[in-house]
Amino acid sequence: MLINLVEKVVTKGMLIGGNWVETTEKLPVLNPHTGEEVYAISCATETHVYDALKSAAKGKIIARNLSAYDRSEIILKVASLLKERKEEFTQTIVNEGVKTKMEAGKEVDRCINTLTLCGEEAKRLTGETVPFNAFAGASAKKGHYVYDPVGIVTAITPFNDPLNLVAHKLGPAVAAGNAIILKPSDFTPISGIKLGELFLEAGLPSHVLNIITGPISNFGDILVTDSRVNMVSFTGGSKSGEAIAKAAGVKKIGMELGSSSPVIIMNDVDVNAVAENCVGGMIWAAGQNCVGVKRMYVHDAVYDAFKEKVVSLSKAVKLGNPEDEATDMGPIITNEAIDKIESSIADLEKGGYKVLCGGKRVNNSFEATIIEGDFDNVLNGKEEIFGPVATISKISSLEEGITASNDSPYGLHAGIFTNNIEVAFKATNELQCGGVMVNDSSDYRIDMMPFGGVKQSGIGREGVKSAIREMSTTKIICFNLKN
Ligand code: NAD
Repeated sequence: MLINLVEKVVTKGMLIGGNWVETTEKLPVLNPHTGEEVYAISCATETHVYDALKSAAKGKIIARNLSAYDRSEIILKVASLLKERKEEFTQTIVNEGVKTKMEAGKEVDRCINTLTLCGEEAKRLTGETVPFNAFAGASAKKGHYVYDPVGIVTAITPFNDPLNLVAHKLGPAVAAGNAIILKPSDFTPISGIKLGELFLEAGLPSHVLNIITGPISNFGDILVTDSRVNMVSFTGGSKSGEAIAKAAGVKKIGMELGSSSPVIIMNDVDVNAVAENCVGGMIWAAGQNCVGVKRMYVHDAVYDAFKEKVVSLSKAVKLGNPEDEATDMGPIITNEAIDKIESSIADLEKGGYKVLCGGKRVNNSFEATIIEGDFDNVLNGKEEIFGPVATISKISSLEEGITASNDSPYGLHAGIFTNNIEVAFKATNELQCGGVMVNDSSDYRIDMMPFGGVKQSGIGREGVKSAIREMSTTKIICFNLKN
């Protein structure tokens, strides 16, 4: 039992046209650790989605007419309300999500930071003058470009960071002057809905934010295909992303997708410290983390020592009640997700990999698992295993590490551990991904940096400043003056 579990199921409605709307059909939201129903959400029909679109069409006019000062003040107010209610939001993330209380608290802190950055950046959305008179015969032309809001942004978010990843959509969308329709994960919708409540409390005008909840099978892909939607900003799995990209048609898309993030460990490092860093990056949010460490390529000079340390650290990882301070890893989101992890491990074993530790479910959690195999195995890097599972492979050179890292349909983050600046530089130059961490694992992100992937890991960049620009269009303005 959770210590602070809500006493009865709390029901949350959808936000449409400034009103909280409830449906008779409800979707239970379960606590993944206990399996108990803790919340329930409404299930949208097509009519609700069309109502939200009508509302957003009004909202986009309201939003673009808010001054940069007003947008900034609203977002900064949300950040300050969240700071006051940190404990409550931390508990919500624990109740519905996969994080320990410590991890959930860090997510709230990061969310406050994300929103603060959005509030600051809302005042810095500046264009540039363009020297039109640099062209022959155009001496009477003067002009500049500005960032114009795209209009309506559909924001679709995953289960694993249920608060901060919603903030990475709502904050930049409001900062850029857009209306938004949010569709949070069915598994962890409450943190995002509550963040929406804070935006209203902070003074965001009606219609600018709408929230639709429930299974997409009830309302199809209208939120993606409707021509009133100007941008689909999606974070989630690569397969869902591909389906959405195909359905979206001619509109802007932002795609933050899956990964199988590699880390290269060279022969000149402090093996124990690097092993701790990598295991930490593997087990955050019980491995349900897009930049989590999934593949470790270790130089043969330190391979045995590194492997021994990584395995002993993994064996020591404590599973259990996320409320308990001694717990290192919380639950996996659903039973189906555990089945998927198990079948991915079985496939690796059939393909020649060997489980060194872990590999089993414990109640609703999964053991920290290290699997050994050749870096050039045909299965290397091909699948994202969304759990606390990483492979370890021996390499004899940096080139082998880079080749193995790049041998994947994904390319989000990568890490390289070395004390040799030439080696580090070559790796940063040749790794095909959206971000390379030197002397850190792939599991490193701050909310202001441009963030995103290449290949099947995504299109475009989030991170506050980048997301605000992605949610804007460049508009060129040229004056044809008399002289
Ligand atoms: P998911 O793709 O199953 O679902 C994500 C969201 O998309 C949910 O709200 C879901 O209801 C919705 N959705 C799914 N298919 C859809 C469709 N066809 N049309 C409209 N909406 C659709 O992902 P998940 O299991 O919630 O999250 C885990 C995945 O997200 C992992 O692959 C992880 O790597 C990825 N992720 C990526 C990032 C990143 O920034 N790159 C961050 C977090 C998670």
